[in-house]
Amino acid sequence: MRELYEILLQDGIAQPMAEKMAKYGEMVVKANEKFNLTRITSPQDMAESHFIDSIDAARRGYIPKDAHLVDIGTGAGFPGVPLAIFLPKAHVTMIDSSEKKIHFIRETCSALKISVTTVCGRSEELAREKQFFQTFDVAVARAVARLNILLELCVPYVRVGGLFLAYKGNSATEEAEEARGAAEKLGMELISISSAGPKNTNHALVIYQRVQDTPCIFPRKYAKIKKSPLS
Ligand code: SAM
Repeated sequence: MRELYEILLQDGIAQPMAEKMAKYGEMVVKANEKFNLTRITSPQDMAESHFIDSIDAARRGYIPKDAHLVDIGTGAGFPGVPLAIFLPKAHVTMIDSSEKKIHFIRETCSALKISVTTVCGRSEELAREKQFFQTFDVAVARAVARLNILLELCVPYVRVGGLFLAYKGNSATEEAEEARGAAEKLGMELISISSAGPKNTNHALVIYQRVQDTPCIFPRKYAKIKKSPLS
């Protein structure tokens, strides 16, 4: 993964971080031969869509260096693993309902000495546990669900004053409009929708801040969230 490493360096990522990211990328590609982790595997696409896109929120200053951060629906580890490499003082927790994906992240991060906490389970169920409910400075999620569903899955993790960063594409504004009622019911305020990610892409970060507690009826069971998204 020399090419991936070179692209990350050219993007201004410091050498030891670029090296760790390239090694992680290499292990994703290798594991992908055995089970489906990602459709993105070329060095250029990996660099842009997985690593540069993932750390963009930190580069723009939305994530404090020592943040308690949770990545919900992390899949093969994005954006959580690149963020853990880029912000070595942050405490990064990664959640996914897929056992095999969490197993991959746990083994790979341990081998590469990337400090993360991995939890296998459904986000809407884990969020009700005391250790997770409104305890994180920042929650992030990418490619998990539309915002009106995603908010209920993710924002219960965010402490009062903390942020939820949704990595989105060109539907960001439309989704935020659709999720206006959900945000209000969950105690969140829309702060901004800003273009983000690698150059020449339509990526956007939708940023919410917790202004009130989440009412204790949330999050509901997934079947209910899916059948009747908050509006
Ligand atoms: N965030 C990664 C990325 O951007 O490459 C992975 C995106 S993948 C399309 C969506 C992931 O979310 C899957 O790995 C799936 O298992 C996980 N997921 C979906 N709903 C979830 C839930 N309610 N709780 C935990 N994980 C969930």
